[in-house]
Amino acid sequence: MQTLKTWVSVNENCDFSIYNIPFGIYSDKDVKHHVCSAIGDYIIDLFELESRDVFDMDRSVFDNQYLNSFIELGKPTTNKIRNKIIELLCDENSFLKTDTAFFNKVFKKQSDVKMLLPVKIGDYTDFYSSIDHATNIGTMIRDPKNALMPNWKHLPVGYHGRSSSICVSGHSFYRPKGQQKPADSDQPVFGPTKLLDIELETAFIIGKATHMGDSVSTANAGDYIFGMVLFNDWSARDIQTWEYVPLGPFLAKNFASTVSPWIVTLEALEPFRVKGYVQNPPLLPYLQYKGDRNLDIKLDVYLKPQNGEENLICSSNYKYMYYTMEQQLAHHTVNGCNINVGDVMASGTISGPQPSEYGSMMELTWRGTKPITLKDGSERKFVNDNDTVTIRGYCKKDNVRVGFGNCTATLLPAK
Ligand code: CA
Repeated sequence: MQTLKTWVSVNENCDFSIYNIPFGIYSDKDVKHHVCSAIGDYIIDLFELESRDVFDMDRSVFDNQYLNSFIELGKPTTNKIRNKIIELLCDENSFLKTDTAFFNKVFKKQSDVKMLLPVKIGDYTDFYSSIDHATNIGTMIRDPKNALMPNWKHLPVGYHGRSSSICVSGHSFYRPKGQQKPADSDQPVFGPTKLLDIELETAFIIGKATHMGDSVSTANAGDYIFGMVLFNDWSARDIQTWEYVPLGPFLAKNFASTVSPWIVTLEALEPFRVKGYVQNPPLLPYLQYKGDRNLDIKLDVYLKPQNGEENLICSSNYKYMYYTMEQQLAHHTVNGCNINVGDVMASGTISGPQPSEYGSMMELTWRGTKPITLKDGSERKFVNDNDTVTIRGYCKKDNVRVGFGNCTATLLPAK
């Protein structure tokens, strides 16, 4: 990795190092919505920055509620913009550093702005690609001897979710209500879910559209992936258990999901590639790939009771994924299904092999049989009303850190 040194002061534990330079949308008392990047504790307003013509382009693309138009410029352009930002932040003689009045226009404290949903999401797909998660769930709700369905090691299982209820970090949502069938009853009952769960996931954002009939290969998939975010796919386990046969999740999943506001580019993540899972039995040719295509992303989940402290409840890693993003995208499009800029494709819950690495409460408490004790002495089997859950994630190698910021949301009592 080329060593970069910026004149902006950045704490070594900060997610937004000079190696990151992610993209997002912010708002504050003066700005309705501008495209921005981040360094250290600051956001960088790219609309204001372009008033000096640094990227030599029409700056109106930066005055936008969503990143879609920016992403549609294509990777050659967005990568050039990202590299130019890095260059300006490393140049000790940059006017950005020397012109204090201009600096104050372009740089704002992250704590003083509100981050918005980064993309207008067309379609949302959720995969199920962590072997430890699929094995745990299969063991609990079906049969320990046949925890994985026969198709699981041959294709990345997924389903089409709903985008209307995907919210940016910092939101709250109501405990969902629905049908459940208690074990001791032969009839379903209706009421607020009793088993409200988290799902520790990441998601990738589509950066280039295809036409119907086209397929994306594993080798070319990187051209179609703009970057990644953290993702909490909130789930109601009792509603899910009753409704999911035969078509999969429906009301158990579509009431809320949370995304982190910064899209970390695939280019920023490249240095953290690691070897993928050994896939045996071998896959059909369209799912095969070459090289190290997994990613070492440390993922932590924190639960905070109302007025309480944060409790670390899970530490997992993206590298436990059985299928890579490239395989997921190749599979998604192999039938000719078209994709659009801003589509969100989530990983599925990412669990590791150790119990402390399980990415859902369902697994962490083994369906409520092993409650978690929090610092305040209270117990959790699932998420309680007014609990706040935060996912954090970052890559670190040779003291270079690239992270995602927070993916946080609060559960309100049922409405
Ligand atoms: Ca999920």
